[in-house]
Order: sequence, then structure tokens, then C-alpha cells
Amino acid sequence: MSTAEFTQDSSANSVEQNKIINAIPVMAWSTLPDGTADFFNEHFLSFLGITSEVAHGWGWMTSLHPDELETLASVWSALIASKRPGETEARFRRSDGQYRWFLFRANPVYAEDGSVTRWYGTNTDIDDRKRAEEALRRSAAFLAQGQTLTETGSVWWKPLTQEIFWSDEAYRVAGYPKTQQPSVELMLGRCHPDDLAHVQEMVARAVENGANLELEHRLLMPDGEVKYVRLVLQNIGLDRSAPEFIGAVTDITQRKTAEELLRRSEMLLAEGQRISLTGTFSWQVDTDEITFSNELHRIFGFPKDTIVDFDRITERVYPEDLPLLAEKMSNVRSGSDNPDYEIRLRVSDQVKHVRVVGRIIKHLNGTTECLGAVQDVTAQRLAEEARDKLRSELAQIARVMSLSTMAAAIAHEVNQPLTGIVTNASTSLHMLSADPPNIDGAIETARRTIRDGNRAADVITRLRVLFKRGTSAVEPVDLNEAALEVVSLLSPDLQRHRISLRTELFEALPRVAGDRVQLQQVIMNFLRNSIDAIGDRSQHPRDIVVRTELGADRALRFSVEDTGCGIAGTDPDRLFDAFHTTKADGMGIGLSISRSIVEAHGGKIWGRGNSAIGAKFGFSIPGKPEHCLEEGADVFRAGRS
Ligand code: ADP
Repeated sequence: MSTAEFTQDSSANSVEQNKIINAIPVMAWSTLPDGTADFFNEHFLSFLGITSEVAHGWGWMTSLHPDELETLASVWSALIASKRPGETEARFRRSDGQYRWFLFRANPVYAEDGSVTRWYGTNTDIDDRKRAEEALRRSAAFLAQGQTLTETGSVWWKPLTQEIFWSDEAYRVAGYPKTQQPSVELMLGRCHPDDLAHVQEMVARAVENGANLELEHRLLMPDGEVKYVRLVLQNIGLDRSAPEFIGAVTDITQRKTAEELLRRSEMLLAEGQRISLTGTFSWQVDTDEITFSNELHRIFGFPKDTIVDFDRITERVYPEDLPLLAEKMSNVRSGSDNPDYEIRLRVSDQVKHVRVVGRIIKHLNGTTECLGAVQDVTAQRLAEEARDKLRSELAQIARVMSLSTMAAAIAHEVNQPLTGIVTNASTSLHMLSADPPNIDGAIETARRTIRDGNRAADVITRLRVLFKRGTSAVEPVDLNEAALEVVSLLSPDLQRHRISLRTELFEALPRVAGDRVQLQQVIMNFLRNSIDAIGDRSQHPRDIVVRTELGADRALRFSVEDTGCGIAGTDPDRLFDAFHTTKADGMGIGLSISRSIVEAHGGKIWGRGNSAIGAKFGFSIPGKPEHCLEEGADVFRAGRS
């Protein structure tokens, strides 16, 4: 039935009523007792953009939002069955296709017998209200979520009336159940005793002056946990003498703990830099902006707050090392090479060796940075220099000694020819004293004799000079220390041969009077032989034990034991003979010299094969504390015959 039909069927009064019904800005409708719709006002039809014919019966339901179709149908059937008024909410599709929320209200009209004769209803547009409600709900949820995430509770407080409000999160931060009546005393009850007086004073001042308040303090929870909170109160009251505060209380424990951790790790880093003599730097390659850590300021001898630039840096660098620095910097600029080099600095007349290591970093914003570390390696370099000096000293003595041992052999060899030369000289004398004297022959023989004699004498003199340079220097020697020095010298060889060396040194070993470098030559010789004996053999173990002991007779004993090839098949007595060697490139003079040295120190040298594997070589020196070499003792005498 259309609106027109409805109008036609009605009386004059009804016509007037229909006009009203069509004019009101509310959707109105009526149905038969079973819910079949038979009337819609104009507002209803024009809103949905459908005709009365389409809407008629149950047709209007096609304009419902699909999600509410089922619910509305069931609510409507239940209402019809109950014959009682009721309402529900659902969305209707407007003529432009947009859905809006409506409140559907239905009222039955009863006959005298109580049966329903018709249903009348209205649909009120509640879309704006719904949206406002939804926005409010969402923002409340946001607020609550935001408070939980930021661990911030809100408070509202009017000191004059003692009115106070805490949000859920404020209860959580203070650790009280939501059922508890909030009060200032309750909040102060959580305040850490050490902070209480200060907090009370600040709050009282804020109330008195109506001023805003911002402060951080600690809470002491019942289980002993300490929390850090930040309290902000803002006076929003119009009257300063009757303030009304809104505010926030934020749990900042995590931030405080992180700050503390950061502070501690920065301290550790600085301490680490100080101990390892390592400073760090950052170089913004595009702008040449340079930042030095405190330790790096110290290494360069810059006062702490110096603004560092390349001019200042190059002032410190050794002129000879400037080209290297320039080359390395240009490599960083071109991005071709991460820096890793050593240069020398001159810091208040002191030479410093520093190692620079860095990494080039390309940032997402297109800039380039070089981050790096500079280590002061002066101490290592000085130790290396000392070690190199010792190494060359030992090399020198080895050369001198081997030559002197050879000199003994050579002297022996040239003895006979010398005798011959002397005999020739006598022959020439004979020639002269003959009658008539053979002048020419004698002169020639004498010339040759003198020339050869001089040459032989020269050889001997030169060897003597070399021999003299090997004279011993007697001093108190700590055998443990001397041994450790040699071990450290040989450590690259040990590593290369994957040999593990253990020391078993007698702690309270008395010092012995002797020539430290010569004794180190003996130790070096033992160790070199052990390394050769273990060599590249693939079997395990590959061990060397260096031992010092103090005998009951107070003799100092030194030994080197190895797991090398051993000396089976060699006559132990021959080991110490000059020129005895089993090595392809051996000279066979090391042990012979060692014996000379040890015997010159009044000691004994020995060597033997181990029963299982390897060999053991050692010496002992009498341990009289004041023991000295005999006056004029010739360290090589024992080795020469
Ligand atoms: P070189 O090392 O030039 O051969 P040495 O006088 O030092 O001269 O040693 C002589 C020889 O003694 C060696 O060639 C080697 O046969 C033997 N020898 C020395 N030490 C050991 C050792 N630890 N294990 C096995 N053989 C050794």
C-alpha cells in the first residue's frame, strides 16, 4: 500500500495526520499484526531511495546492512511473538549507498481482547551519536593503552576539597588495589623514606603557590622493590589560591636502570681504554669533523677539551711518518682500504709508537664515517727492540764462538806449513852461507817465505781478535729469567712447529755468577736442538719441558727435555765433539761450544736419550753464591786441544 492509497482511504482528520506523519523528520511505518509492513512515511522512502511497492511487506529489509539482517529479523519476530513494545539498533543503506545507524522502535496497538491489531514504529538516525560514542570508547581505550604502555597514570587533585582521582595505571604504579580510596597520604605512603621530606616540601609549596610541579623520586614497594617515578602536576584551576591539579605519574625505573647501566658501561669502556692504552676516534670523512675519546686525547698529549683537527694531529706525527699517514687517509677517503698501520708520535719529547685500526662506514644518509681505535704500543716496541738487541748479541757470540772453535782447528791445520816456512827460511840462510853463496836463490826463497809467513800470521791475528771479543762478562745471573728470555725469543719457532713448551722453574733459585749471554747461548742451543729433533714429525706429543732445580749440593741444574727423535744409535760421548752432526745442514759445534761455556763456569754438561721417546740435555753449575770464574779463565780452553 502506498502513501497515496493510505491518504485516500482516510478521513479528513486522517489526511491531516498523514501530512504530519510525512512531514516529521523521523522515519515512520506501520505493519499488520504479523509484521508485514503496509505503510512507510515519505521520509522513510526518500531516505532509502525506494518506492513504497519495493518496501512493502518485507521488501524494506533489502536496505538493511547484511551484518544486521539476521539479528533484526530475530528481534522483530520475538517482539511480534511477545506482543510487547521494543527497540533495537541496525544500519540502513541510504539512497547514496552509505549505511547509517538507526534506532528501530516498535509499538503494538491492541484490540479490546488484547490481541495486536497493528504495529507502529519509528526509526531514529543515531549514526552521529554512535560515531561519537565509538570515538569516545576508542580514545578511552587508547588512553588506557597509552597509560599502560608508557607506565603513566593520571591524577586529578583538588587540595581544598580533598577530592582526588587516580586512573587505573596510577593505582598500578603505586601498587594499590583499585578498590582503595585514593588520597595524598596513600601516595606519600609509598614514597621512599629518603625522598619523603623533599617530596612533601615540594608538594606543599605547589599547593601553597598554586604552582606547577615536576619532580623525580623513588617509591619503596612493600616487597622491598625500589621504583623510580616522575611526577608532573599542572594547576588548571582558575584561582591560584584554590589550585586544581591534573597530572601524571610515570614509572621511569626502566629508564633509570638503563641510564645507570649506560653510565656504568661508559665508565667500563673508559677504564678499558685507560688500561689497554687504547683511545677511540670518529672521523666524518665528508666534513673532516673529528672526535677523540678522553684516552686518545691523553695519548696525543692534548688537553681534555681540545677541538681536534688534522692540523693538530699532523703536528704530533713524526715527519718521516707523515707520507704514510697521508696515504692511509687518502685510502679512507676513496673508500678503498680500512686503516691498519703504525706511526710514531712525538709527545713532549717522548717518542710514542701507535697502532691505528679503523673501519669505514657508509651511512644510509650518504655520509661516510671512519670509526677506529688507536693503541699506544710504545712499550711493546721497546721490548721488541730490546729483544732484537739480545738476538743480535747472541748471534754475534755464536759467530765469534764458532769461529774461535774453527780457529782452533785452523791453527792446528796451519801449524805444519808454518813449520815448513821456518824450515825454508833456514834453507835460504844456508844458501847464503854456502861458498859461493847462492844469493839470488836465497833472496827469492826468503821473500816467498816471509810473504807466506806474514799471511799465516795475519790469519792467526785476525782470529785472535775475534776470540778476544768473546771474553766473558761476569755478573750475578738469574737462570730462570735468562731461560724465560730465550723461550720468548724462540716462541715464533715453537708456534710455527706447533710445539707446546712448559716451564718448571724452581722459584727460589739463587743467582749464579756467570756470563748471562753465554749461558743463554747454551740454553738457546739446547732448545734449538729440541725443536729440530721434534721438527716436522707428524706424531704427538710435541712437547718441550724447560726445568730448573736446586740440588742438595746447592748446584743449579738446568735441563731441556723433548719428545723429539732422540739420540738412539749415537755414542753419548761423541755428542759434544766439535763437528759431530747428524743434520744435513748442521755444523756440529753448538754442543761443543756449550760444553766449553759450562765447563768454564765450573759446571758439567750432559745429554741422554729418554727411555720412551725424545732426549734430555742439561747442565749443572756449582751454586756457591759468590762463585766466580777463575781469574783469566778461558771459556774456550776446554773445547780446544
Ligand atoms: P748441530 O745442531 O749443528 O748438529 P750440535 O752440536 O748442537 O750441532 O748437535 C750435535 C748433534 O747432537 C745433532 O746433530 C744431533 O744429532 C744431536 N742432538 C743434539 N740435541 C739433540 C736432541 N735434543 N735430540 C736428538 N739429537 C740431538
